[in-house]
Formats: sequence, C-alpha cells, structure tokens
Amino acid sequence: MEWLGLQLFADLPTSGQIVLDRHHDPLLILLAYAVACVGCFATFDMAERQRHSEPGAAQRQWRLLGACCLASAIWAIHFVNTLALQASVEIHYDVSLTALSLLIALLAAWLAMTRLDNTATRPRQILQAALFLGLGIVLMHYVGMAALQIGAHQHYQGGLLLASVIIAIVTSLLSLLLAHYLRSGTGILHLVKKCGASLLMAAGVLCTHLTGMSAMTLVIPADAALQLPTEDNSLQLSLTIAFITLLISASSISAALADKKLQSKEHDLRRVNLLLGQLDQARISLQQAAHYDALTNLINRRGFNLIFDERLAEQAANQGMLAVMFLDIDHFKRINDSLGHAAGDELLKVIAGHIMSATRNEDVVARFGGDEFCILTRLNSHDEARHLAQRIMQRMKEPIDLAGRRMVMTTSIGISIFPDDGCTSEELLKHADLALYQSKGTGRNNLNFFDSGLKIRATLELQLEEELRAALLEERGLCVHYQPIVDLRTGKVSKLEALVRWQHPQHGLLGPDRFIGIAQANGLITDLDLWVLRRACSDLAQLSRHGQADLRLTVNCSAQTLGREELASEIEMALLQLGLDPHHLELEVTEHALMGDIHSTIDLLRAIRAMGVALSIDDFGTGYSSLAYLKRLPLDILKIDRSFIKDVPTCQEDREIVQAIIVMAHALHLKVVSEGVETAAQREFLTAQGCDYMQGYLLSHPVPLTDLYRILERLDTPLRELNPCCDIALPESLDLVAENLGFHASASIARQAH
Ligand code: C2E
Ligand code: MG
Ligand code: MG
Repeated sequence: MEWLGLQLFADLPTSGQIVLDRHHDPLLILLAYAVACVGCFATFDMAERQRHSEPGAAQRQWRLLGACCLASAIWAIHFVNTLALQASVEIHYDVSLTALSLLIALLAAWLAMTRLDNTATRPRQILQAALFLGLGIVLMHYVGMAALQIGAHQHYQGGLLLASVIIAIVTSLLSLLLAHYLRSGTGILHLVKKCGASLLMAAGVLCTHLTGMSAMTLVIPADAALQLPTEDNSLQLSLTIAFITLLISASSISAALADKKLQSKEHDLRRVNLLLGQLDQARISLQQAAHYDALTNLINRRGFNLIFDERLAEQAANQGMLAVMFLDIDHFKRINDSLGHAAGDELLKVIAGHIMSATRNEDVVARFGGDEFCILTRLNSHDEARHLAQRIMQRMKEPIDLAGRRMVMTTSIGISIFPDDGCTSEELLKHADLALYQSKGTGRNNLNFFDSGLKIRATLELQLEEELRAALLEERGLCVHYQPIVDLRTGKVSKLEALVRWQHPQHGLLGPDRFIGIAQANGLITDLDLWVLRRACSDLAQLSRHGQADLRLTVNCSAQTLGREELASEIEMALLQLGLDPHHLELEVTEHALMGDIHSTIDLLRAIRAMGVALSIDDFGTGYSSLAYLKRLPLDILKIDRSFIKDVPTCQEDREIVQAIIVMAHALHLKVVSEGVETAAQREFLTAQGCDYMQGYLLSHPVPLTDLYRILERLDTPLRELNPCCDIALPESLDLVAENLGFHASASIARQAH
C-alpha cells in the first residue's frame, strides 16, 4: 500500500538496489532523548498546573503550554533522529510535510492534555486519549518520514510498522496514566517519580521512532548511483531544534514553578483569611457570651455598662435626659423554692419577653442576674419614665402559665434620672438600686424615683448595720423589753413577750422597726434572735427567783432563724443553761417565716414542740397562710394582728373578721392572743368573743426588766376591777363570715372580700 510516497506493508521490489549503508549518529539520538525527557517533564508539570488552575483562561493557557511541550518533545525526537540518519543517498526535506507533522504532533498533544484536566477522568477516556496520542505520534512520524526527499523508495515492513504503532499507543497510555497519577503531590519523591515518568515516556517515543526506522528499507532504482554520506548541516539543525525545544520546556517549567509558588502563596493567603474569619467568628461568639445573658438573650451587666457609658456621653453632649430603671420580681424566690429552678428559668424568659414588649425598640433592656433587670431609656420628662414603669408593671400582671399553674407576678421598680440624680453610670445605678430598695420596703409592686432622702437613709442604715454588728459582738447597747400578756379568763398576767431594743449612743432607744430589717438584710438576725432568747431566758430565771415562777416567756423568731436546723438544740441549750422548764417558753413565728420550705419547717417545729416549747403564729392575718396550712402546722397559739383589733369598736367588718378568726382558731384547737389592745372597748369585745389572751398598751407598754416588777404588781389586781365589762352586741352573721373565709381562704383575703 502506498501512502504519501511510502510503501507500507508492501513487498520489496524485485529490481532495484537496497541501501545498506545506513546508520544513525548516536550522539544525536542521545541528544534527542535528553531533549524529549525535558519536554516530557515539562508536560507533566503543565498537566499538574492545568489541574490546579481555575477553569477558564488560566487552564487553557496551561493546556496550550503543555501541548507545546509534548508536541515539541515528540517532534524533536523524530526530527533530530531523522537528522541523525546517515545513508548513502541525498536527503532533503519537504517543508510543508514537515510542518504538517509538527501540526499533527500539536493536535495529538492538545487532545491528550484535554483529558488530563479532570480529576474524575474515566479509564475509557484515558484509553481514548492514549489511542489519539499514540496514533498521533505514529502519524507524525510517518508524515515526517514522507517529508524526506531522498532518491529512494521507503518500503516498510508490516510487522515492525505495527509494532511501532503498538509501542506508540502503549507508551501514550502509560504516560497518560502516570500523568494522571502524578497530577498532584509535592516533595522530592514526587519530583523523582515525575523524572522517572519523563524518562519512560521519552524512551517510549524514542522506541516508536526507532522501531519505525527499523521497519524502513530504502530502495533506489537499479541504475541510480549510490552516493557517499555527505557532511551536511544536520548537526547544526539538530542542535537548533533541541535548543528551541529546551527553551520551550524550560520556560514552561519556570512558568509552572512561578505559578506553583504563587498558588501556594495564594493558598496560604486563603488559609490566613480563613483563620482570620474563624478568629473573627470566635471573637463575636466570645463577645456574645461576655455581653449577653444566655437564658433570656438580653444583654448582661457588662454589655449594659458599655452601652450605658455611650448613651451617657451622648446625652451629656445633647443635654438630654436618661432614666435608669431597676426591676426586681416580687417573691421570685418562692417560685424557685416551690416549683424548682427549671420553672424559675422558664418564668424569667417569659418575664423578659413581657418587659421587652412593654419597652420601645431603642430602650436598652438587660438582665443583671437572678430576677434583677435593668432598663435604660431616653426621656423628655420624668413622667415618661413613670409611664414606662407603669406599662411594665401592667404588662407584668398578665397571668403566666407555668408548670401547670397560672400565676400573676408583680415587680418592684426603682428609677434614677440623668442628670438630676447623678452623672456617672455607677452613681445612677446605685441610686436606682436605692429607689428599688424603697419600693420593696413599701410593700412591693411599687415604683419609686430616687430622692436625696433615700441616700441619707441608706448611709444611715449602713452605719447602723456596722454599729449593730459591733453591738452584737460586744453585747453592748442591746436590751430586751417585756410586754405582759393577760389571760382573759383569769385576768392575770400569764406571759411576757420579749421585744428587743437598742440603746444607741447617738439616736437613743431604738425600736426593732429601726434595725430588724437591717439585721435581716445582712445576716445578723439569727445572732440577734439567739441573743434575745438567751437574755430573755436569763431574765425569766431571775423573775422566777423573785416570785414570778408561773410566767411564760414568748420570744420572736425570724424566718432566717427558723431556717436553721440547729435551732432546736440551741433552744434546748439556752433552757438547760438557765435551768428553765421548756413549758415556760413560747416561740412566735410569723406567717411569712412559715411560708418557706414547709416540710423542713414542720420537722423543726415538731422537734421544738416535742421539747415542750409552745409555738404561736404571730401577726396572723397579715400574710397569706391558708387554713389548710395552719392545720398541718404543729401550733398552739394564734396571735391576731393589731391591725384587726384597732378598729374593732367602730368597724363591723373587723369585728366579724376577729370573731371568725377566734372561732376557727378554736376549731383548730389553737388558743388566741389579741395584739395591740389599747381600749377597754376592744378588751370587752374580745372577752365576749371568747378570746383567750390579750396584749396591748391598755395593760402595759413593753418595759425593761427593772420596771416590770412594778407593772406586774399593778396588773395583779383582777381585770374586772380595772375595767368592768360592758355588753357588746354579737354580730348575727358569724356563720356567714366563717363561710366566706372558707377552709383555704386566708384571713387577709377574707378581709379584702369584706
Ligand atoms: P410583734 O412580735 O407583733 O410585737 C408586738 C409589737 O406591737 C411590739 O412592737 C409592741 O410594742 C407593739 N404593741 C404591743 N401592744 C401595742 C398596742 O397596744 N398598740 C401598738 N400600737 N403597738 C403595740 P415592737 O416592740 O416595736 O416590735 C415590733 C416587731 O418587731 C415585733 O412585732 C416583732 O415582729 C419584731 N421583733 C421584736 N423583737 C424581736 C426579736 O427579738 N426578734 C425578732 N425576730 N423580731 C422581733
Ligand atoms: Mg411577736
Ligand atoms: Mg405581732
């Protein structure tokens, strides 16, 4: 078969001369191989770059460069080896066919490169590419051979020709697989692998060429004269081609190196950027944690202080006004104690929502911890702050469903105004806190603005607190006064209530209302109660020695003291030390003190009562103790609060309440003491209702022990003689009152109902 003047798969002609004097310059073959190795290495490098570049222009550029490197490598092998051919014939080149062979090499290389840009290249695609490249190499070779203008026919032996084709395809396949395998990686080992692959690929192309050359037999006509191999410029040409190929490969490799460096720099830069982004994210999260309250999502004290300072500076510059509001949820502790902390947390979230909905968007709402919230708002007048506070209090009263219960919470609010009440955030917060303290002190569910009087009072209280601590420690200034309690049946003094007093060096004799609150707020109350207990027991022992052996002593006990497990043993110790019979002691506890942890309170009260100490509930009617509660408590006496007794002579409603309390107390087997009896009319009414004891100024004010003997002597005169009893009409509706109160209703609720 003849193709482009080449005799392929054809037998040798019967006539003609075979050119036997044919050899290749080994130096040039070596040069061709070396050049091809560099070219192949550059091709692998380009394939790697192509793989790592962004799709688009950059990738196309690396593909083109790669195709140039590969084409120049395989074409250089062919052409330099052709130049290395030395035979006894004259050799010229057909320029257009030579150019065509170069073009074929380029096309095949381009196709191969396109297959190497995809990571997910399938084996079938690689096989196709290997076929294209292999056939391309073979085609380039034979077109290149056809470009040889020699006075001889080229006859190609079929077997070797086919072998050259197979070698070309196998070489291409191996090269493509290697390029695919080496498309990413770094380090010396990767470089060595790439060098090895380049040597192999170049060897494969060289083999193809040499096999193709071995398949060729040059036949000149029988009459043509053989020529001696001539010295021509083939060495020069070979060197030029090698130089150009090397130049292309070297510049491609340096471009690839520069790009690799650039890309690794870019990669580093991207990583730095990523790290910076992560750092920024972490900083924001930290800031969020540092400045926000995780439970309610409101800002916390720290966040609030930051904004506060900004707003203060802003308002100071604009001569504007600001209000700082402190909010404290009334009796929140009870929720935690009774329903648990999870319910308490839930409630705080709802409350935070209520506060937010009552405020404006520009207002700053913060949770300072626990049940304490703080609001910062811009103002034009004091009234605006009042309205906002009222709005919050109103919103707060909306019923909240929690843990299967429906409850209504209230809040106490303290307000300070910038610039009237202070110029710094610390000052304004302190003053709002003082105003809040005032609100809580005046019955809660209240709002108060700061005024300078509060500050004076707070300073005074602070001073009193220090002095009280010292007075307790040094047992100096504190004393106990006693108020007699008369048995209305016998008319005789049967008990004494011990009431603490403080002989203050500057302020004179202070009543408990001046310092009990301070003692309660600062953890001094227990020491105070126990001190009073010991002092009163010692005074009772003294009274007993002076002929008053039947008297009983009643001592007040605060909620905090009642919370101590050791209380029973402390009482026992005090009684033992003074040799007093426990039946001479009565402990007065208020309704509020009983409302805490009922289970442990009951246990403690039982232990105290088991010793023989009587228990009474003080100020009955001022709290919210339900009668069911009362029934469960181990009590002996109920003391009706003075507020019910005060208007008994004039107020029908109070009369009915007192009657009902006495009836119910008796039904619960409790004795009744009426506090604050000041008039004979009150006494007579109580006697008529069957009240058991009475206590009040009518009999005596609380007096020191020294004056008590005289009072007791005076009161020894039977009651009837002091003030004869007068009849008081009984209200008809006694039953009705009892019914109105109901078993669960508290006395104070009943009072409201009336
Ligand atoms: P309380 O236990 O209800 O004591 C009765 C209070 O009513 C006493 O006030 C007493 O002076 C006053 N009082 C008695 N009769 C009359 C009256 O006819 N008219 C009027 N207007 N008042 C009368 P005081 O001594 O000021 O005590 C006030 C409260 O301080 C006591 O109320 C008690 O709760 C508390 N307290 C007193 N001493 C102690 C103590 O040692 N420990 C504790 N924890 N609290 C105490
Ligand atoms: Mg009392
Ligand atoms: Mg009382």
